[in-house]
Amino acid sequence: MSSAAACIFCKIIKGEIPSLKIFESEKTFAFLDIGPLSKGHSLVIPKYHGAKLHDIPDDQLSELLTVTKKIAVAQNLSDYNILQNNGRIAHQVVDHVHFHLIPKPNETEGLG
Ligand code: 5GP
Ligand code: ZN
Repeated sequence: MSSAAACIFCKIIKGEIPSLKIFESEKTFAFLDIGPLSKGHSLVIPKYHGAKLHDIPDDQLSELLTVTKKIAVAQNLSDYNILQNNGRIAHQVVDHVHFHLIPKPNETEGLG
């Protein structure tokens, strides 16, 4: 597993790297993705450092999902993807567990 000391998401949790925070609790942190796939794309992470889903304790894991749901409700999302990558082959780049919450806006909204 990668070390917490060198982890960019641990640094974001500690405020050592700036982020646009949208939620924080004792166990969980959420912020906007720096390279959003759509407007409002957020990342929900445990404060516990673990690289992959199976590395983090169950109580941390269950809160990640409920917080992701709360953000979806707060953003009034109707259509969205939740994505969670584990390992390089599965496209994981940052080795600290994270759920992507990716809004899928209605492409026809605002058109003629
Ligand atoms: P992965 O491919 O590991 O599932 O996704 C990592 C995500 O972290 C990417 O969507 C990327 O844009 C985001 N990311 C990487 N570095 C930073 C950062 O320093 N700040 C923020 N807000 N997001 C980051
Ligand atoms: Zn970390």
